[in-house]
Amino acid sequence: MTALRLYDVHCHLQDARLAEDLPGALARAAEAGVARMMCCGIAPEDWPTVLDLSARFPQARPSLGLHPWYLERRTADWRERLEALVAENVCGVGEIGLDHHLPAETRTLQLEVFRFQVALANRYGRPVSMHCRRAWRPLLEELKARGGLVAGGLVHAYGGAPDIVAALARRNVSVSFGGGITRPNARRPVEACRAVEAHHLLVETDSPDILPTGCPGPHNEPACLVEVIRAVAAARGLEIQEAADLTWNNARRLFAGLEPPEKKQ
Ligand SMILES: [Zn+2]
Repeated sequence: MTALRLYDVHCHLQDARLAEDLPGALARAAEAGVARMMCCGIAPEDWPTVLDLSARFPQARPSLGLHPWYLERRTADWRERLEALVAENVCGVGEIGLDHHLPAETRTLQLEVFRFQVALANRYGRPVSMHCRRAWRPLLEELKARGGLVAGGLVHAYGGAPDIVAALARRNVSVSFGGGITRPNARRPVEACRAVEAHHLLVETDSPDILPTGCPGPHNEPACLVEVIRAVAAARGLEIQEAADLTWNNARRLFAGLEPPEKKQ
């Protein structure tokens, strides 16, 4: 088998659990064939770290956003800061999202924060990385109201029903699978994975969280993407190499505008 080439479309290299041994984690990722990682910021305090990381390690590409779990970490000027950083840097927008597991009284603010960031991504033509739990209807309505995503995007760690996949595709949204599909009893993710059109299929680790079955731990890291691609290939009846090539090409197309600058000679 020729070497795999994989794109981890959603991870958090800035997390303290990975920062402890980042050179080690990146070396193991390279060894496993993980040639690109989309590193998603979650709150204003980690946006500079994400940008710094991607400047030092070009295989890590930056994405900046305010995650619904961390709304309390927003600063008074977070909107201006995010817009300035997006305008100045080649980066995606996310992790953003809607989460109806959170207390219902946060929903108005969640929606407002989500709406601002989707509009920002569309204004600057950037791909979006989205988190969604039990909020599929508002998510789809919101995307419809914004005319979809200008530069596309993805829902990460997909946990929705198989029949939502087609509605997402109509809004230019791809679907990414992570550790959840590696569980021996993973029926729903496997069914959803089979429902995704080939050109919308992506894989991720969401490291350092959601440790795939088969990875030693203690926490998840990009090298564990190999376990995810194995499970995705099995779900779709593909060779591992075919699943790797398919998801690599899909991610490169979605994130084409976020490639590292060419090195000067
Ligand atoms: Zn995440």
